[in-house]
Amino acid sequence: MKRGLFQDRRILSLIGVHLYILVHFLLWYVFGVKIWGKTAMMGVPSLMAGHLNIAAIMVIVIIFSVLLYGRAFCGWACHLRGAIEFSDWVMRKLKISGYQKIRENNILFNTSFRWVFRGIVFLILLLPVIAYWIRREYDFYFNLQSPTPLTDLPGNNNLLFATNAPINMQLATNGLTMLDIIIPFTAGIFIIFVMTFVFNYFYGQGAFCRIMCPYAVLLTPFMNLSPRQKKITRISNCTGCRACSKNCPQGIDVSREIYHYNGKVINRECIKCHYCIDACSYQTLADSGQKASSQTKPISMYEKTPWLNSRRHLQVVEPLPPVYDVISIIVAIVCGTITSRLGGFWFYVGAIVGFIVFRKLMSFCLSEDDKSSLNENQLKTDKTKRRRQKEPEEVLNV
Ligand code: SF4
Ligand code: SF4
Ligand code: SF4
Repeated sequence: MKRGLFQDRRILSLIGVHLYILVHFLLWYVFGVKIWGKTAMMGVPSLMAGHLNIAAIMVIVIIFSVLLYGRAFCGWACHLRGAIEFSDWVMRKLKISGYQKIRENNILFNTSFRWVFRGIVFLILLLPVIAYWIRREYDFYFNLQSPTPLTDLPGNNNLLFATNAPINMQLATNGLTMLDIIIPFTAGIFIIFVMTFVFNYFYGQGAFCRIMCPYAVLLTPFMNLSPRQKKITRISNCTGCRACSKNCPQGIDVSREIYHYNGKVINRECIKCHYCIDACSYQTLADSGQKASSQTKPISMYEKTPWLNSRRHLQVVEPLPPVYDVISIIVAIVCGTITSRLGGFWFYVGAIVGFIVFRKLMSFCLSEDDKSSLNENQLKTDKTKRRRQKEPEEVLNV
């Protein structure tokens, strides 16, 4: 993937977010300066429960930012995105076999039911609040102070796992020792490792964002609402070389989008990472709220109805029959629910491991003949859709 000016700025921004988190932790736990609590997406449950604290305010700001800048929060300020890209960088530097191959070709595995998956994970995140609503135990208040920075993380309340976890380990029983810091820190790193390194390794870069992140469900409805929203925009003639599409970590067919949607990328998966802008050697793209420039030169024509074509998202759906695809999500949810007994973030560990293991097992059980017939069926579906569109790829003289 090409690294340009935007990437340097973006990496600085993501490093800044992690520095903020570090300073916040040090101030709270080392110097006892407790300005506010956890400023993170746990503001979503706070907001839904009627608690207007600093985390909830942060979520409101993020939602408003989507109206103006799209999901720029994802690409520029999400600490998890930073960890995901860091793991990608480490695995590329280490030339990890297997990962290098899918990374060089930007192969992005996914499931056809990704929105269902993310939707269920979002509901699970909100379960405690939904229980509140059902019991009608509303508790509206305004207080900037939100829960402690370690909420949901190993080490909270001097316990390795959540207070009501079936197994646990008491920390700092005789004053704080190095081990009391190292043990929960290692557990936290392990969780992040599964969400980033493991998921990236098996499903391609940014797998967590593309497949499981519940916050995509929260942010995407606010995309494309405001006419002033900045979007990836065509600012000069496009050659149709498709370098932008091949470099998008979210698997968006950028060149097709700007062709069909008045020079704009309107795909809700766009996280404003600007890799497409950097990849374009013709300086055709910019992140802009202005009208796109017209395409005046001939270009290879794309299908008129890209939403009917699975290749609009350049993501590879594993050759699994739909029923296994759905079952893999159920397995992931069940495994995640079991591990979530250890504490909030442990949900992701169980869900990711369950998802990967089940799908690998099913893939392994399918014979090569089954797989090639599934692939053929996929190709046939694509061809039928194209025939229906009566729109062969051809050269258009505009
Ligand atoms: S999709 Fe989720 S994990 Fe990925 S950048 Fe956005 S909020 Fe962060
Ligand atoms: S926007 Fe740039 S990179 Fe993308 S197809 Fe057009 S010329 Fe190529
Ligand atoms: S369309 Fe461009 S900015 Fe959006 S996710 Fe893809 S590469 Fe990043």
